[in-house]
Amino acid sequence: MRKLIVAGNWKMNKTNTEAVKTVSELKELVKDVKNVEVVVGVPFTALSDVAKELKDSNVKVAAENMHWEEKGAFTGEISPLMLKDINVEYVILGHSERREYFGETNEIVNKKVKSALAHDLKPILCVGEQLEDRESGNTEKVVEDHVVGGLKDLTKEDMLNVVVAYEPVWAIGTGKTATPAQAEEVHKFIRGLIAKLYDEETANEITIQYGGSMKPANAEELISQKNIDGGLVGGASLIPEDFSKIVKSAK
Ligand code: PGA
Repeated sequence: MRKLIVAGNWKMNKTNTEAVKTVSELKELVKDVKNVEVVVGVPFTALSDVAKELKDSNVKVAAENMHWEEKGAFTGEISPLMLKDINVEYVILGHSERREYFGETNEIVNKKVKSALAHDLKPILCVGEQLEDRESGNTEKVVEDHVVGGLKDLTKEDMLNVVVAYEPVWAIGTGKTATPAQAEEVHKFIRGLIAKLYDEETANEITIQYGGSMKPANAEELISQKNIDGGLVGGASLIPEDFSKIVKSAK
């Protein structure tokens, strides 16, 4: 059985005070969940206190970005060593907003993925097409480019610590979810690609999350698809009740 992972991606939302309050509510709501790994991706300023609040809980903490270097003259950046030191376990990398607004290329994303793995952080590699890619029939081409580029030079062993999140950009924050069939088609494609790049066994082990307007009303059907192993949840992860409903619908 593949690991199901439901991760929140709060993006640039919540002050540290709000974040601690949110996770204190969330950990109670999901404390009996055993079959799903629950993760919250929170802003840098809240990571340390959120990790402390979640210390003895079953909720793990993710950063939403990081630099690939350990330290040095990179004003304003955060390194993997800094994340490890405060007990962060996951890091969301290559999110479409980072690619679009901050110029992150596959090459940059790949450096970050490799650095995360080298520092024992689990990368959640985000991939996905824009609306015009889908309309011009280029979904698979773009997704392949993101997967191959993001995973470049990773070994089979590395792959066991990588999570892939398929997030069609046109579905992010728009309320337009991919239909379960549309999402499943791309998830199957990604798994097939990983089988080609590595092998069947590796492809069968890897968790592939769906992201893009996932909410309590559509999560169960999406996650019940054969190749969909959880979700990367933006808007609906900001409200503990909604997020916990999504977590509990994953099986
Ligand atoms: P959304 O965001 O759930 O608000 O669409 C998902 C994401 O960007 O990870």
